[in-house]
Amino acid sequence: MTETTHNLGIENRVDLLGLTLEETQTFFHSMGQEKYRAAQVMRWIYQGLSVSFDPMTNLSKELREKLTATARIGRLTTLQVFKSEDGVKKFLFGLDDGSRIESVYIPTQDHDTLCISTQVGCAMGCRICRTGKMGFTRNLTAGEIVGQLLEVRRQILDSAVRNVVLMGMGEPLANLSNTVRAIKIMTNPNGPQISWRHLTVSTSGLVPQMIELGHSVRVKLAVSLNAASDEVRSLIMPINHKYPLDELIAAMTNFPLPKRDRITIEYVLIKGLNDSDSDARMLVKLLNPVRAKVNLIPFNEELSTEFKTPLPARVAAFQDILMSKSLIAIIRKSRGRDILAACGLLASENRSDC
Ligand code: SAH
Ligand code: SF4
Repeated sequence: MTETTHNLGIENRVDLLGLTLEETQTFFHSMGQEKYRAAQVMRWIYQGLSVSFDPMTNLSKELREKLTATARIGRLTTLQVFKSEDGVKKFLFGLDDGSRIESVYIPTQDHDTLCISTQVGCAMGCRICRTGKMGFTRNLTAGEIVGQLLEVRRQILDSAVRNVVLMGMGEPLANLSNTVRAIKIMTNPNGPQISWRHLTVSTSGLVPQMIELGHSVRVKLAVSLNAASDEVRSLIMPINHKYPLDELIAAMTNFPLPKRDRITIEYVLIKGLNDSDSDARMLVKLLNPVRAKVNLIPFNEELSTEFKTPLPARVAAFQDILMSKSLIAIIRKSRGRDILAACGLLASENRSDC
């Protein structure tokens, strides 16, 4: 072991969690090591779920000791796991600075989905959303974004979690560089091996960042539209003042989509506000230039005094109008409501009643 390796304290050690392959290669290069070591170590971190260098037996003992002295593998602390009666689990994670975030694990028959956070809180201030109401604390690092997936895989041993959606707390595109880095890691063959087809970024509609995302990585896109007119959208989503519908629709129309792929439009249905037949017809017209499919999400009204959820018959009627105009429209079943894990209800808190 060299002298320098002894002198580095924990804070000074490089955290390898959250580095892309290229960044990991640069780190190994700086240590005077071969490039291929980066891929080897990434596989231990993301596939072997290692949190120390000791088990990495395809590295020499000397290299493992050197790594232990110069680098570390960060991880999140699981503070609490809330279990819903419908199988959904909500994880409350603690970060190094004491911040807390939530991830939601949603088991289904053929594939399990994990909904992960990209920020502590959110600055977008959508009036329908509980995360928006808590305000913004900070961006997550790429390691903290990917770390949520690793921690859930550590704990749910029988689950492969093949589907990942960046739809938890925060606006992923307001934290674009770390979101892109996390996407590169998740889809890397040496990483947790999430196929880009099973990886979705959801945005409230940050137009320049959407364009940059499309140029940076291959990923599926979801846009929270929630209204078919500027008037209603601006009322519930302040971001619409900055990027109104015509700009948003143009960005969606030009988003680089692989053949047969579609952008998912999320449309939260709110009683009396955006759920009428004429709203449905306006939505069909608005989405005409976009290769889109629509997810209809009945508003989760837990803890809301301002808005209400429509009756099931209204939701069905809205869906019928979209489908009669050949627009694919799915009603997204709300899951995990009893533990406040459903869309728009995440807010990083302990609840003793769960
Ligand atoms: N910030 C990103 C991703 C996280 S929000 C975005 O806005 O797309 C995830 C989804 O929850 C969004 O589609 C949002 O419209 C929806 N949502 C927010 N509050 C909701 C509520 N009370 N009921 C149902 N869905 C809600
Ligand atoms: Fe932020 Fe999305 Fe909630 Fe809006 S809906 S406040 S963008 S998390």
